[in-house]
Amino acid sequence: MKIGIMGGTFNPIHIGHLLLGEFAYEEFQLDEIWFLPNGNPPHKTMTENHSAKLSDRLKMIELAIKGNPHFKLSLHEANSTHHSYTYQTLKELHSLYPSHDFYFILGADSLFSIEEWKCFQDILSSCTILAAMREDKDIQDMLTQIEYLSNRYGAKIELLKAPLLEISSTVIRKRIERGLIVRYMVPDDVDTYMKKRQLYRENKGYDK
Ligand code: ATP
Ligand code: MG
Repeated sequence: MKIGIMGGTFNPIHIGHLLLGEFAYEEFQLDEIWFLPNGNPPHKTMTENHSAKLSDRLKMIELAIKGNPHFKLSLHEANSTHHSYTYQTLKELHSLYPSHDFYFILGADSLFSIEEWKCFQDILSSCTILAAMREDKDIQDMLTQIEYLSNRYGAKIELLKAPLLEISSTVIRKRIERGLIVRYMVPDDVDTYMKKRQLYRENKGYDK
């Protein structure tokens, strides 16, 4: 099976994530897309103020993907008690599912920072990267970076053509904090859930 992995903090999940998954599924004839929330991300400081609890982030992913038979929630990193690194996760997934091919889906920001990820060369050698454009990077920037990573590290990277959406979880959290609407930036059920649980309301200041 060809499995697309959509890793992230999903704080909260939004339509940018969902569209990326769906377009990857279609363009690369994948069998399933696994949403892989990070339990305890090494590269982000998850302070209480602006982070939803893991259980809320998981619930919102469940609400967002329900009804799509090829979207799955993977608790592989969420259930881990230690920091999860992508290279390690991919290694574990390969040994758990030796016959699957993995396609790691990411946005431009991640493609441009990947050399800072722990053991990134292991990541590049163990999956195909599907990289989508995002805000400040245009197609030329993307192609240049893809060529650079491919030549330098032998990476297998494909450009993922998906609608360009200026949506991020950060923008959503900030809008909610200011009392602004996020309807249609997230699925309705996620919007309702965030309201019910009063997520991201606390005005204690953001670090970005
Ligand atoms: P935050 O603002 O908290 O960083 P985010 O919206 O970037 O949240 P993440 O959970 O950090 O979401 O992202 C997971 C992956 O999804 C990353 O590879 C990121 O580049 C990608 N991604 C998220 N939103 C978009 C988008 N609108 N377009 C393209 N890629 C995106
Ligand atoms: Mg991000």
